Amino acid sequence: MKKINLFFALTAFLIVSLNAQDYKVKGNADSLATYHGNKEIYAIKNYDDHFSNEKPTNVILMIGDGMGTAQIYAGKTANKGALFLDNFKKTGFVSTYSSEDYVTDSAAGGTAMACGVKTYNAAIGVDNNKKPVKSILEKVAEKKLGTGLVSTSAITHATPAAFIAHQPHRNMYEEIAADFLKTNIDVFIGGGYDHFTKRKDGRNLANELAQKGYSVIQDINQIKDFKVGKLAGLTAPEHNERVGLRKNMLETATQTALNLLSQKKNGFFLMVEGSQIDWGGHANDITYIVEEMLDFDKAIGVVLEFAAKHKNTLVIVTADHETGGLTLNKGDLIEGTLIAKFTTGSHTGVMVPIFAFGPGAEHFTGIIDNTDIPKKIEKLMNL
Ligand SMILES: [Zn+2]
Repeated sequence: MKKINLFFALTAFLIVSLNAQDYKVKGNADSLATYHGNKEIYAIKNYDDHFSNEKPTNVILMIGDGMGTAQIYAGKTANKGALFLDNFKKTGFVSTYSSEDYVTDSAAGGTAMACGVKTYNAAIGVDNNKKPVKSILEKVAEKKLGTGLVSTSAITHATPAAFIAHQPHRNMYEEIAADFLKTNIDVFIGGGYDHFTKRKDGRNLANELAQKGYSVIQDINQIKDFKVGKLAGLTAPEHNERVGLRKNMLETATQTALNLLSQKKNGFFLMVEGSQIDWGGHANDITYIVEEMLDFDKAIGVVLEFAAKHKNTLVIVTADHETGGLTLNKGDLIEGTLIAKFTTGSHTGVMVPIFAFGPGAEHFTGIIDNTDIPKKIEKLMNL
């Protein structure tokens, strides 16, 4: 009897620890991966980055999950040498380690960029003692400024969740969804409809959101046409599909969020995440990485178009960590092809790049730490 109990206890422990480490090994490292070229080359536009005012009233933080320098250049190669990201003249590097690990996961990385603290992997908006820490989004909301979140994963997933929820573990999707109702966020768009509606506690948070004055919309075309009011855009039961299937969901969601938040005359904070660059890295799938990287870059184009018209807007583009240990062994900028290699199916500890455009961009240069990002934004927005 004792042996059987021991066996079950061990199995249960193994399942939990495997789940907690879903950012670890998936792909088959050391294999060469070939990207065969991209039929949909897109033209980029150049934007003038001279700004009169010192400080922004609008801040847009864009996070490419798992996006290291190699992932960016793989995209640039595939688009035959050009990215909207080329417009960013202020650049630097960001250290990403978590409180107990040289290699972070998206939860600890997101919490560092949202709340300015180092915490343990899997933590959402809490410190090492599991104590909630106010995020930059919550501080902006307290000043009655606009707030928004957009993601290609579930909106309850690690990175967006770190900006709005406070839970001891990233897999607590239903608790994370419930935390959205404790705020007055103006707009959020991403997957995760089931975390709001198919719940163990029997609550229907979509109804509760509607009672709080939100329009709860699942259809991206309706989200595209949504013009005024508070929006809960839940575009998939869980995570959104890969870019090939979800089409230009990210560009559309980003544009709608900007249309709504620009109605906030005193300013706003928006976080936009390209989540699935990371999933391509875990799978050691260079085509997946390139497609998601270019989709994210097109969303950067939407944001730059806005910033060029709203000169009080600061745009910051960075990553929470690199995924896959990607390196580029061979490439052709004319053909848009490349041969790549991965060293792991996990996240790595390398510094990630940061890019800034607009008033205050000079504060995001050199080598900084991920916890510096919300502190610098807070200072620039006089929060
Ligand atoms: Zn990951």
